[in-house]
Amino acid sequence: MKAKIDRDGCIGCGLCAATCPEVFRIDDEGLAEVYTDPIPEGAEASAKEAADNCPVGVISVE
Ligand code: SF4
Repeated sequence: MKAKIDRDGCIGCGLCAATCPEVFRIDDEGLAEVYTDPIPEGAEASAKEAADNCPVGVISVE
């Protein structure tokens, strides 16, 4: 599985990085980035949770 972020819409709230730090982190610009590809085994559920809970809905997991 793979996570993607439409960074144009990210507001840098940090929720995804808090929910699934194995996949998401906040970069120097204050926006979220995906830094592991594919999603590591065992982190799929939390990556999906992060996608579901992103307040602006810019994360996709497929
Ligand atoms: S949860 Fe959404 S808005 Fe918040 S930092 Fe992550 S991608 Fe950006």
